[in-house]
Formats: sequence, C-alpha cells, structure tokens
Amino acid sequence: MSSQEQRLAHHVAIVTGASSGIGIAVAEALGLAGAAVIVNYHSQDKPAQELVDRLEKAGGRARAVKADVSKEEDVLRLFDAATDAFGRVDLLVANSGVQKDAGIAEMTLADWNTVIDINLTGQFLCAREAVRRFRAQDKAKRPARSAGSIIAMSSVHEVIPWAGHINYASAKGGIRMLTRSLAQEVAADGIRVNAIAPGAIRTPINKEAWETEAALEKLLTLIPYGRIGEPEDVARAAVWLASDEADYVTGTTLFVDGGMTLYPEFRDNG
Ligand code: NAD
Repeated sequence: MSSQEQRLAHHVAIVTGASSGIGIAVAEALGLAGAAVIVNYHSQDKPAQELVDRLEKAGGRARAVKADVSKEEDVLRLFDAATDAFGRVDLLVANSGVQKDAGIAEMTLADWNTVIDINLTGQFLCAREAVRRFRAQDKAKRPARSAGSIIAMSSVHEVIPWAGHINYASAKGGIRMLTRSLAQEVAADGIRVNAIAPGAIRTPINKEAWETEAALEKLLTLIPYGRIGEPEDVARAAVWLASDEADYVTGTTLFVDGGMTLYPEFRDNG
C-alpha cells in the first residue's frame, strides 16, 4: 500500500460503539489506513468480532473489547486493553450513542439519564482517559505530529434544535462545548480534539427515517445534496481528521451532512 493509504501506520486507535453503523465503518477505515484498532462493543459481540477478523485478514491488527462507555471502570479497562494489546493509544473516536425519544411531558427521567450518561458522560470519561494516556506517553515514540487526537461523534443536532429528542440534542449540544473547551485546555500538550457532526446516515439508529420510500422522500427534503449519507462518508472524514493531514485542525466540528445544516427550507425563499 502507498504511504497515503497507510497514513495511520503505527497508530493505535480506540473506537467506541464499533459493533454497528458508523462505528463499524470508522473502525474499519482506520484499520485499513494502518492503525491497530480496539473495536469497542457494548452488547453485540458478533459484529465486533467479525470486524476484527476482517481487519486481521487484511493484514491489520485489531481486538474486540466489551465496555459500557457510561461506566468509569469499564472505560479504564477499555484503555488498559489497548495498552496491553498494542502498547499505547494515539487516537480515540468516541462514537457510542443512543436515542430514547419522547416529548418532554412523556420523557422519563430514566430516558433522559440514559442518553446523557452514554452520549455525553461517556464522551467525558473516554476523553479524560485519552488525555491522561496521551500526556503520559513517551514523546519520542509518537507515530503522529500530535501527542494524540480525539474525535467526538456529535451530530447536526449540536446546532439544530430537535423537538421530541431533547435528551439527544442536549447531549450533542454538550459535545460541541466539550470539544471546544477541551481542545483549548489540551492544545498546549500537543493534543488535538475535534468532532464530526453527521447528518442523516443510513444506520440502525434512524431506521424509521429511511426504511420506507415515503420516509426517505421526506428525509431528502432536509438534505440539499439529495442523498442519504452512508457510514463510509463519515469514516473517510474520520481518517482524514485523525491523520497528520489535519494536524493544524483542533477545536472544530466537521459537518458531514450533505448540507443539512444549510437551512434547506430557505432555498426558495430568497
Ligand atoms: P448505531 O445504533 O448503529 O450505533 C450506536 C453504537 O453505540 C452501537 O455500536 C452501540 O452498541 C453503541 N453503544 C450504545 N450504548 C453503549 C454503551 N453504553 N457503551 C458503549 N457503546 C454503546 O447508530 P449510529 O448511527 O452508528 O451512531 C453512531 C454515532 O453517530 C452516535 O453517537 C450517533 O448519535 C451519531 N450520529 C448518527 C447519525 C445517523 O444519522 N446515523 C447522525 C448524527 C450522529
């Protein structure tokens, strides 16, 4: 492979929620770009192990590790698994996320807490551990120009309000400021922190928005570029953001949304 294709050679990456959807595609793309990958899963061990097998078959290195990102002890174990298996950690893609949708009057405290715990506190716990490990690692052994890189999986709902999903939108809005504040805090350590904000990507989390023709047609009215996104669209962005090509990029959110955040309803309102 060319050096361009292997631009993450010698990197060790942790991808959370890598047993489904965007996480699988991101972990696979990082692995094919040369990174050794810790494939985190919460409940679905089969797709996680299948991904590990695919990466190993392609000549890569990978391990599946079960952990709940909302639990402190699990997150510590996840990072220990990376250092035990591959000796270091260079990249975190904090991708795990869930939805528990309801209008405010019907939303239970449990639905609120579950989404905040996984989608926001999980990001905090993983980012904190990543920073601790990045700071402690031998600078001479870095595979990248940075001392480590964090990519938080956000959403267009870090800026687009979303009725009926206030727990999810609040968590993603929180990720926006977590990303920016943390990037400011750790830039002097040589650590980069960014987010990716996907628009509508075809995965199990939003199946009802694309599985029927009528639903897909309605969804497409929100996407100026005229197609639903695929997990690979996000994965390619993640590989670039993780690589030295993006070395001067920190504290930003990269929107991968086909223009969903461009107020498409204003197209004919000029
Ligand atoms: P998905 O449901 O296919 O994947 C979610 C992943 O999170 C799964 O692997 C699941 O096991 C994992 N997960 C859930 N709870 C966990 C926990 N407690 N600990 C560890 N892992 C846990 O959905 P997806 O679309 O691939 O979503 C991935 C990320 O992308 C999420 O953060 C989601 O909010 C974000 N996102 C998705 C879209 C989209 O259109 N699909 C749009 C914007 C943002």
